[in-house]
Amino acid sequence: MFLPATPEEVRKLGWTRLDVILITGDSYVDSPFIGVAVIGKRLLAAGYRVGIIPQPDRSSGKDITRLGEPALFWGVTGGCIDSLIANRTASGKRRQGDDFTAGGINNRRPDRAVIAYANLIRSHFKETAPIVLGGIEASLRRIAHYDFWSNRVRRSILMDAKADFILYGMADNTVLELAASLRDGRDVSELRGLCYAATRPKPGFIEIPSWEEAATNPAAFEKMFLTFQGHQDFRTAQGLIQKQDTRWLIHNPPPPPLSSAQLDEVHAMDFEREAHPSHRREGEVRALQTIRFSLTTHRGCYGGCHFCAIAVHEGRQVSSRSEESILREARTLATLTGFKGRIHDVGGPTANMYGFECRKKLLTGACSDRSCLHPDVCPNLHPDHRPQIALLRKLREIPGIRQAIVASGIRYDLLLADRKQGIPYLREVIRHHISGQMKIAPEHSEERVLKCMGKPGRGALIAFHDLFCRLTAEAGKDQYLTYYLIAAHPGCTQADMEALRRFAGRELALQPEQVQLFTPAPATISTLMYHTGRDPWSGKRLFVEKTQAGREFQKKILVAKNDRLRYESGATANQKGGKIMGKDKDVKKDTKKKPTKSPKEKKEAKRLKKTGKAGEI
Ligand code: SF4
Repeated sequence: MFLPATPEEVRKLGWTRLDVILITGDSYVDSPFIGVAVIGKRLLAAGYRVGIIPQPDRSSGKDITRLGEPALFWGVTGGCIDSLIANRTASGKRRQGDDFTAGGINNRRPDRAVIAYANLIRSHFKETAPIVLGGIEASLRRIAHYDFWSNRVRRSILMDAKADFILYGMADNTVLELAASLRDGRDVSELRGLCYAATRPKPGFIEIPSWEEAATNPAAFEKMFLTFQGHQDFRTAQGLIQKQDTRWLIHNPPPPPLSSAQLDEVHAMDFEREAHPSHRREGEVRALQTIRFSLTTHRGCYGGCHFCAIAVHEGRQVSSRSEESILREARTLATLTGFKGRIHDVGGPTANMYGFECRKKLLTGACSDRSCLHPDVCPNLHPDHRPQIALLRKLREIPGIRQAIVASGIRYDLLLADRKQGIPYLREVIRHHISGQMKIAPEHSEERVLKCMGKPGRGALIAFHDLFCRLTAEAGKDQYLTYYLIAAHPGCTQADMEALRRFAGRELALQPEQVQLFTPAPATISTLMYHTGRDPWSGKRLFVEKTQAGREFQKKILVAKNDRLRYESGATANQKGGKIMGKDKDVKKDTKKKPTKSPKEKKEAKRLKKTGKAGEI
């Protein structure tokens, strides 16, 4: 069933008052992929009366008041993506489209949605039930943080929203504990995964530099962030306190991740896998095209990419569902109306982390002095792709499933480190689980930049590329790799982008077209580097391209169709840290290597291909 979103639906359930009302910046889609739906269903399953108000109109009280006032708390989330990232491009322009809004037009979610919705509640309900913030926006902005869009260090979003609590990370269990405590009138201040404001510091907690210090002193900001980041493993983390104006932010230690059995429980709940009927007249929610028939196999990621905040939100420990639970869900998908035989994704934050974990981490917590994958795969990890191979084989046998695609990213360094099962896994994926192309995320080619990104070196990429080509040829398939690349990451100069372009042409036979401009999202190491302009470990200064023209130009270097365009743009762009493209001999060489075919040549090639004589040219 859907959570009730209208007074009529509440009445039909025989409820006179709700215990919890959830507010979200997305349209309401009832799916295990949507955090607010999972939280609502968990509360519902535990016996609470839960309603939901998606994307309330802020120009009147009509939407926010329509379900009344909750007895226990308001739950507020900006949606599946931080509202600033959902609403603005990396260049600061307003995004037109929105995959999480019915109809696809980006006109429903306000910037800083969490703050906007908390204010909306307060303006219509005085002395109301506690306002509890959750979801990615609140989670990543829970302590003082650098905000790219206003170019300043902001306070915790708890303070700016004047809310009562933040439930950070994956709050499936914490939300149940909070609801029970509020219902029973118990103290909530010891709950793991909870932040709140207090007039006094909490004894025994570690004090991190205050918001004022962090906002004015980059060294203090760095210290604050690294201490925060070092206390994210529930086995070893201590509580943190941070002074913000006259009050203290209390950051309790994180909760344990869900066990395999608990994850199975979440996915066994009855989801509609549809948008709420009230959205029907507004149009389709595009995200459903991907998530309606997809399977989550696990949560968490130890990839440690410096520009990614998953570890701070979901944790560095991977929790995997049981094989039986995933297969059961797959069988359900196969019976649903509209299912055409294809599962669009079988994966998680990183597809090939399913089914194994580091024993040391499980016993004593993740290491604070090294990354699990960077600069090399940790010898203690012992990657094992067997559980994934077994799962994929069983999925293929389910009646009604023609294909189960692995669309989530694959960490190729992890795959290569599994000397016994890595190649069989890739062979399996190439033969049965990709549809024409496999997306991987090398992000760059230059070792210095890769180090800043926390990504594997180019040797692993070349080895994987060659292996992929060999296994694809062996399978007799016409499939190729596509690559996620990032421009303007801290440490990356124009010269590095030129080198990446040459590398892509030479080693990957690629003219990149899709390149992301680095966005300093809250709570990542890359954002720390962007803000402070230095390497947090060595303390050395880093080149950081901050001008919009320079950032755009880095991207243009990679995607420009010819050198002339790059040279002309380069003449006007900020050249700090880079060199002008047109003067680079290697670039000219690459261009010569791959001349564009004339229409006549193209016609001839087509004719030869048709007659099967292409190889005779
Ligand atoms: S021992 Fe290695 S794999 Fe395990 S937590 Fe530490 S760094 Fe990660």
